[in-house]
Amino acid sequence: MKGGVAPLSQYSAGADFSRKFALAYQACIIGEEKARRCKMDFSFRERQDNLERLGREEFDIVVIGGGITGAGIAWDAALRGFSTALIEKGDFGSGTSSRSSRLIHGGLRYLRYFQVDLVYEACQERFLLLKHIAPHMVRPLPFIYPVYKGHGMGLPELRVGMWLYDLLAFSRRVGRYRMLGPDEALKVEPALEKAGLKGAAFFYDCLGNDSQITLATVKAAYKAGAVPLNYVEAIGLLKSQGKVRGVAVRDALTGKELEVKAKLVVNAAGPWADQILAMDSPSYTEGLRLTKGIHLVVRRERIGNQNAMTISSPRDGRFVFLIPWWQFTIIGTTDTDYQGDPDIVYADAEDVDYLLEAVNHTLPHVELRSEDVISTFAALRPLAFKGGASPYEVSRKHRIFETPGGMLCIAGGKFTTYRKMACDLVDKAAEKLAKEFSRFPKDKCRTYQTPLPGGELLPDGETLALWEKATGLSKEQMDYLSFSYGSELENVVRLIQADSSLAEPIVPGLPYVKAQIIHAVRHQMAITLKDFMVRRTRILYEAPDGGLGAAPEVARLMAAEQGWDQARVEKELADLRQEWEKTQRFRRS
Ligand SMILES: Cc1cc2nc3c(=O)[nH]c(=O)nc-3n(C[C@H](O)[C@H](O)[C@H](O)COP(=O)(O)OP(=O)(O)OC[C@H]3O[C@@H](n4cnc5c(N)ncnc54)[C@H](O)[C@@H]3O)c2cc1C
Repeated sequence: MKGGVAPLSQYSAGADFSRKFALAYQACIIGEEKARRCKMDFSFRERQDNLERLGREEFDIVVIGGGITGAGIAWDAALRGFSTALIEKGDFGSGTSSRSSRLIHGGLRYLRYFQVDLVYEACQERFLLLKHIAPHMVRPLPFIYPVYKGHGMGLPELRVGMWLYDLLAFSRRVGRYRMLGPDEALKVEPALEKAGLKGAAFFYDCLGNDSQITLATVKAAYKAGAVPLNYVEAIGLLKSQGKVRGVAVRDALTGKELEVKAKLVVNAAGPWADQILAMDSPSYTEGLRLTKGIHLVVRRERIGNQNAMTISSPRDGRFVFLIPWWQFTIIGTTDTDYQGDPDIVYADAEDVDYLLEAVNHTLPHVELRSEDVISTFAALRPLAFKGGASPYEVSRKHRIFETPGGMLCIAGGKFTTYRKMACDLVDKAAEKLAKEFSRFPKDKCRTYQTPLPGGELLPDGETLALWEKATGLSKEQMDYLSFSYGSELENVVRLIQADSSLAEPIVPGLPYVKAQIIHAVRHQMAITLKDFMVRRTRILYEAPDGGLGAAPEVARLMAAEQGWDQARVEKELADLRQEWEKTQRFRRS
């Protein structure tokens, strides 16, 4: 026994038994080889193996872009038995997919624009994510939509909207909605402004851990046999007789260039999709529209909200969300056309003012100021459809199209609908592969019933309590960690069991512990310091100093795992500082 912590088996014999049973079951059902892979790590070592395979093998499908869309496609394609590679130029999820509003939702606002089919689809997908695919990373989120005299939507309009929203979810609703009078609304959400309050709708959507869902989807693709690689950039397309037959790539860590051969290339590069299209033909364009959305992170007690809130901007009537995230409230978002470089998007003073104005208009007692903003994050929407005077009115549906060179592209969509988007794309890919190469799938789309890693055998309350006792972590920490890892939290617990110093907090007051650093390197393919501080955790956005004070210790542990020298450590620290400065740029502009 090291560090005074009793062996885990003493606490969780039942859970251990069910896990062993599940592995034995997997071995019978999916074969010894796949069961062995299920137990394998997902670390920088596997990245090296994957890189070698990338240059050696010919794939059925190579997917460009490791956001949620590309990850979903790689997962689905691999499950259907296609040999699949996924290449991502930065970290998995480093584009829009780690900077969303973190809602897994039907999208109440789309009803304003009569996008009933989109809302229906999103409600179905919300249910699948909550119940089957990512029950560990998606939770019901109670929402309140207050109505004020002379401002925003009226009560009759809201009542109709709620009725339709509920109807579209039908048996797949998260919870029943209620219309509340002003007194009841204040009881449910004391943070509401009393003056002028006419009533409210109380309903349910879901909260989702976007960056962790993306990582888990990539890992699921890997477990299903795909070859995913972060820090590998597509720099050109390989062509044979005018047809795209592979991708030229560069490993960002070594600068080494490779040619990856494939029967079919898929462009899932989100806001960068036009850049990949230009590699096929410089004159080819689908005219994707990029719009910027930003969020503010403030301490929750500054707003005092217990539920998520939907308010309206006094400037243009757009919805603005106030989303509770443990000790914080995330406020967003904006929607403005963007013509700049997708690699350097950030929130400016005007974006921040827009959101502060919306909050202070509906909740004047809060008096939120820019000094209350701990950090900001910004991302781009690659809208697939034209039309709509303002970006807000453009459809969020997805679109799949084929280039003259035979590359399949996917654009638009929502985080919530990624599984369905991937399924539609892989259906198209399967058709093409069958027709052009007589290559047939072994299976149909199965993602609707397949849990992501960590979602298979969720630790129940009893197990969490035992783990709490075994590690000395608080209930809040356990709650947060299980929302990140589900059953894979057991890895973190075991690390702490082996070395109790790994239970130390990384930043005092935040739930993150040092064991997560080791877990991220060994099981989540964290390659850089930013990968850990921004996407494996949210320290960059939540710590008042962006975690710069804690960064040398995090870098020390990552260096020990990966064998970094001092020069690499310094580069990692400098990169993190630069990223943090981006979250603070609104203060200077
Ligand atoms: C502000 C905002 C809030 C949102 N909130 C929500 C929400 O709450 N709920 C919801 O359902 N949806 C939400 N969305 C929509 C959702 O987040 C996006 O639809 C989704 O994340 C897009 O994922 P993606 O994989 O298509 O793009 P991305 O996540 O951007 O992934 C594309 C990837 O391609 C990579 N790439 C680019 N070029 C190359 C190259 N040459 N080689 C290799 N890789 C490359 C990029 O690095 C990037 O990681 C929001 C969007 C925004 C902008």
